Amino acid sequence: MSLSFESICVKEPKDTKRNKPHILPIYASSSFEFENINEGIDIFTNKKEGFVYSRYANPTVESVSQKIGQLESYGLEGEGTAMMTSSGMSAISTLIAGCLSQGDKILTQGNLYGGTTELIKKIFTRFGVEPIFTNLKDYDHIESLLKSDPAIKMIFLESPANPTLACVDLEIIAGLGKKYDTLTAIDNTFCTPYLQQPLKWGIDFVVHSTTKYLNGHGNSIAGAIVSLDKEMMRDKIWATMKLLGTNCNPFDAWLTHNGMKTLVVRMEKHSSNAMALAEFLNNHDKVEHVNYTGLADHSDHELAVKQMRLHGGMLSFEVKGGVEAGKTLMNNIKMCTLAPTLGDVDTLILHPASMSHLSIPREIRIENGITDGLIRVSVGIEDIKDLKVDLGNALDFC
Ligand SMILES: *Cc1c(COP(=O)(O)O)cnc(C)c1O
Repeated sequence: MSLSFESICVKEPKDTKRNKPHILPIYASSSFEFENINEGIDIFTNKKEGFVYSRYANPTVESVSQKIGQLESYGLEGEGTAMMTSSGMSAISTLIAGCLSQGDKILTQGNLYGGTTELIKKIFTRFGVEPIFTNLKDYDHIESLLKSDPAIKMIFLESPANPTLACVDLEIIAGLGKKYDTLTAIDNTFCTPYLQQPLKWGIDFVVHSTTKYLNGHGNSIAGAIVSLDKEMMRDKIWATMKLLGTNCNPFDAWLTHNGMKTLVVRMEKHSSNAMALAEFLNNHDKVEHVNYTGLADHSDHELAVKQMRLHGGMLSFEVKGGVEAGKTLMNNIKMCTLAPTLGDVDTLILHPASMSHLSIPREIRIENGITDGLIRVSVGIEDIKDLKVDLGNALDFC
């Protein structure tokens, strides 16, 4: 059929699909065409595998999701099913919206990622999901809560968690969840599956802000939800994601894919640099104490050794001299970047009392472990010599 000028302008070229690209292509396509009506019916009714509409599934996003599922379930029986979402927050909101209903309770800890605490308190309470914030390390108390309150339908945790890198025993929590028929979920952003595989200990769901270490280069916002239970992923997670529209876009999935290729070398270097920096700071006379699970004096050192391959790139420390010393340190840092994110290849440093937590009353801030001179460092993969010089010089001003 010969086409007119306007129709040629509009027509999609066909032969691009015959190429064999070495690198994952970005499928910037909102929908997918069918060969004929029967194929359309088969795909729509799940008789045949295929793509329909990118909010439901997209080839680029699905390829990267599959990789995250494989990594989280590496070496385990059964393959993890993963779905990427538009952010870490959308992974968490999709998980909660998909699994909990009005009248259900979510049992969690006070020291969660700030956005997660707000999401649970400000949004989900309006839909009748009640949070219980408690110390998840008090396992006897957790058991008595679960025993006495069957409305608790999910335990949501972070390990290690800001700012002290406190850890929770994943095996114990997963066991309690199974015993009392309560779903368990963890935010594994700090570790990535290279350092910690919560599914191995029996945790039902893993969520990620892939924005952080999985991408590693600070150029995308995305998240992921993973489980070994395919049915739950389809019926609870996918069914919710496609209606909330919390799906990941192909470009951010693609950027995450690029980053994940170097995940192992990055996590090894983040961890060895953080270990060396933690020891350096621990011996510095301007530093009150250092929070890093790799240090033998950290209260969760042994637990971290049990459930983590290495101790990761996150640490915090208390500079002597309170808020003023914290500000002075920030103002004299030369190489590290002052930025409110983590997990990038370059070192990021934050003084919560004067930055992220400035508007929070002092008593509440301190209650949550954000003391006046607390400095959080996302240790990058630079030469450790430069890191020591930069922090050492800045500490000399404090
Ligand atoms: C950043 C972060 C989130 C939120 O992720 P976004 O991708 O920014 O939505 C959730 N949990 C943890 C631990 C984080 O560091």
